[in-house]
Parts: sequence; C-alpha cells; structure tokens
Amino acid sequence: MKKGEMLYEGKAKKVFKTDEADTYIIEYKDDATAFNAKKKGTIKGKGVVNNKMSAIIFELLKEKGIPTHFIGLLSDSQQAVKAVEIIPMEVVIRNVAAGSFSKRLGVEEGTILNTAVFELYYKNDAYDDPLINDYHATALGFATAAEIESIKKLAFQINDVLVEFFKQHGMRLIDFKIEFGRFHDEVILADEISPDTCRLWEIGTERKMDKDRFRRDLGNVEETYQEVLAKIETN
Ligand code: UDP
Repeated sequence: MKKGEMLYEGKAKKVFKTDEADTYIIEYKDDATAFNAKKKGTIKGKGVVNNKMSAIIFELLKEKGIPTHFIGLLSDSQQAVKAVEIIPMEVVIRNVAAGSFSKRLGVEEGTILNTAVFELYYKNDAYDDPLINDYHATALGFATAAEIESIKKLAFQINDVLVEFFKQHGMRLIDFKIEFGRFHDEVILADEISPDTCRLWEIGTERKMDKDRFRRDLGNVEETYQEVLAKIETN
C-alpha cells in the first residue's frame, strides 16, 4: 500500500489517503492540546503509545464482535484503517464522575455512578464541542435514529469490554470518548482509544494515568503514558 496525500491534520493525528480507495493511513503525533486547544504542548513518545494502544484495544474489540476501522499497524506511529466518513459527534461513556460532568453537575470527582452514563457532544471547535442529545443529533442530521441506536448499543458493549480489560491490567476506567464513522452503510468504531481519550486511575493508589496529568500539570506525563502501554502489553 502506498501513502498518498494528506487529507486532514487534527490536533493529535494526520490522516493520509492511500492507493486503495477504502483505506487511509493514520499517523499519530506527539502534539497535545487541552481545553479546546487553549493549552498546547508536546508529550514525547505519545504518538507511539497511542498508536500501539489503540491497535491492542481495537484488536480486542474486534475479537468481541465490535466492528472497528482498524486494519493493522504499519510502524510505531502509523496504522492502516478503513476509510470512514466520521460522524461529527463525540460519544462519552462515564462510570465514575470526573471532569466536565463533575463541574457541570456539582458531583465530586470519584463518585461512582449508579449506572453508566451515555453522552453526545457535537464536534465543533468554534462552539466548544457542546453537549447535545439524540434529538439534536437527528434534528440536525448528524446521524439517523437507527444509527444512534447502534452507536448507543456499541458504546455500552465497548464499555463492558474495556472496564474488564483495564481492571485486569490494574486500572479503573473512569470515562472515555469514542467516535464512530460510516463505512459502506455500516456504523463502525473509528478514531482512537488511548490515555488521551480515557480517564484511567491506578487500582490501589487512584493515581491518574491519563491526559489529566497534562491538563492539570500533574507531572510525569511522558513516563505515565509509557507505563499505561507497558501495563496493557503484559498479560
Ligand atoms: N475527551 C476527549 N476529547 C475531548 C473531550 C473529552 O477524548 O475533546 C475524553 C476525556 O479524556 C475523558 C472523557 O472524554 O476521558 C470525558 O471528558 P469530559 O467531558 O469530562 O471533559 P474534560 O474534563 O476533558 O473537559
């Protein structure tokens, strides 16, 4: 497969066309942003960690019957994926209160939620990715009602798989963000799953092992990203 022209450069990744119409190449970068790019920096080695971690998790999800865009790793920082049309929504699942949920609802961080919470955000930097519900999504044509139903079902299935997976590797999955895309009329999991997009707390110490170390200037950012990858690479 040959790498073609760059289609898109986002905050953390570049997407390239290839000589195969149905395939893109994603290149993960070390660039880090937070608070809608108001805070910018670099986390050395992050691109490699996120590329490898997403590969491990997307393979696991595939084994569990979840359709994903992942095709295969090409190098330490690049992977081949199915060429999806991204649905412009961020899907967040929360098991424990944290971040914007805690702030918006006045719930102390760390409060265990009675049930997992499903949230949708409209991907739009100019409006700071506003929280929406499924009515906004269908009314504005982001997705059909049937697509939202399958997104919801997949998101909760993914949560079940990931909670168990991270637990086996010594971490609590507090919350995470995923994105979906359309591929030949099917809705499949796209984007990434990494310490950039999940909150992970070490079991026993409650140490934060995710992007909150960068967002909140907690130190040891690079080392912690490496540690998460090392944890999930061990059986
Ligand atoms: N998240 C993400 N990208 C975003 C916003 C959130 O990956 O643009 C992830 C974030 O890492 C966390 C979850 O989604 O695991 C919920 O984030 P929250 O809404 O609490 O936002 P934040 O605290 O980052 O403002």
